[in-house]
Amino acid sequence: MQKNEVVTVTIEDIGVNGEGIGRVNGYTQRAHRNACAPRGELMYTLFIKDSMIGDVVEAKIIKAKKSYGYARLMKILTPSKYRVQPKCEFARKCGGCQIQEMAYAQQLAFKQRKVKQNLERIGGFDAEYLEQIMEPIQGMEEPFGYRNKAQFPFGTDKQGNIITGFYAERTHDIVFHTDCALGVPVNREILELTLQFMRKHHISAYDEKTGQGDLRHVLIRYGFTTKEIMVCFVLNRAGKRNFDRRTKGKRVWLPAQDELVKALAKIPGMTSISVSPHTEKSNVIMGDSFEVIWGQPYITDYIGKVKYQISPLSFYQVNPVQTEKLYGCALEYANLHGTETVWDLYCGIGTISLILAQRAKQVYGVEIVPQAVADARNNAKINGIKNAEFYEGRAEDVLPNYYAQFAKSHPGQQARADVIVVDPPRKGCEESLLQTMVEMKAERIVYVSCDSATLARDLKYLCGEGYELKKVQVVDMFPMTVHVETVVLMSKVKE
Ligand code: SAH
Repeated sequence: MQKNEVVTVTIEDIGVNGEGIGRVNGYTQRAHRNACAPRGELMYTLFIKDSMIGDVVEAKIIKAKKSYGYARLMKILTPSKYRVQPKCEFARKCGGCQIQEMAYAQQLAFKQRKVKQNLERIGGFDAEYLEQIMEPIQGMEEPFGYRNKAQFPFGTDKQGNIITGFYAERTHDIVFHTDCALGVPVNREILELTLQFMRKHHISAYDEKTGQGDLRHVLIRYGFTTKEIMVCFVLNRAGKRNFDRRTKGKRVWLPAQDELVKALAKIPGMTSISVSPHTEKSNVIMGDSFEVIWGQPYITDYIGKVKYQISPLSFYQVNPVQTEKLYGCALEYANLHGTETVWDLYCGIGTISLILAQRAKQVYGVEIVPQAVADARNNAKINGIKNAEFYEGRAEDVLPNYYAQFAKSHPGQQARADVIVVDPPRKGCEESLLQTMVEMKAERIVYVSCDSATLARDLKYLCGEGYELKKVQVVDMFPMTVHVETVVLMSKVKE
């Protein structure tokens, strides 16, 4: 097998990133020269983006390793029975969706299997046991238009036109489109208005290579229940330190800024328009502060009966329909009766904490982003919830410190928790945190995870420290993509 060779492949499997996997007879020249490689022909594995199980495809090899390679889909010779017409014409090019051309039922089966395989392979759990305890995956009835948030980058095409859209997979090349099928219709109006404004007033798009240019990204958030809209422009401008004193700190960020604000403010539901200054050369989308240029610093939304105010820099689940199912499951697994002390680690703006607080004695939330902690405290207040307290810091510092402090101030006693909920980012929990969770002898640990590989690793650790895996619920928060959320219940084994 070598680069540029064209092969015919039957796709038999799906990779973690949604790509099709097929095997062909052959070997690379390198393998041939390698004395350790078996002589003669061997099965060569190819990863082919945009192909799916059941397809027979013609593909061109773009990268050839010893025993596997990557190929580009050239032609579908026989389509898989799971193939559907994509809703968006950019589905294949755009990196936002990976599996839009796969029938939704098949997407769900793939995600359930992916979580199960990680729990088996990385977590070391028994396949039959998992079969018994894993509930069927919760999918969506309408798996499009579900996102309440989008962050669109700005760039310049080869002809020098300003464009926006999403990055193509694994690149920062923008695929120009303003009408993402996963987002809400108002995104398009906001993007078109912004592009028009930029052209008219010669506002440039940021160039990642040179660090030059004005506008980096726009964040758009939409409250599904309140229909409130937030727009935050991420600008390549220095932050607060350079404030213009002549305008009493109220800074004009863009030429003719008021014209843009006026146009956007006319959109029904517009509630908050802000800018986030961000000059650092990095992949981080938002700057670390923001300034309101019109309206309020937040939008309001509801999950169930709880009301949340969300500011531009805070994390908020992107799929409100599925979030209710996810949190409902976390609450069920927590099994609260009103007497419990509960920790909600990685609590964001306190979404899960406040739902738990309604059924617990006391909830402690921990979150690293200061703005999110401020939002969490405020959210407790606007809902009249008094039994939720929030700490700012890294969960892996705050909890162990709390535990150590408690021992000092209560000689002979240990800090205890009845239930601990964790919802970490993809990298999962640090071992020092898991260790403290074990020391606090929580009866139940509810683990909400967006990465089943690190989830499996952490569950393995907890199982070695006196916990057992009781329940697993996979929730499809991100249809058309390979991502998925999982909620897990771990119980302390009775001593
Ligand atoms: N449970 C919340 C947020 C989950 S997202 C919800 O459902 O809305 C994960 C959160 O963890 C983010 O808010 C992120 O800012 C925060 N975070 C990331 N690393 C952290 C750490 N080391 N300690 C505490 N919080 C962290």
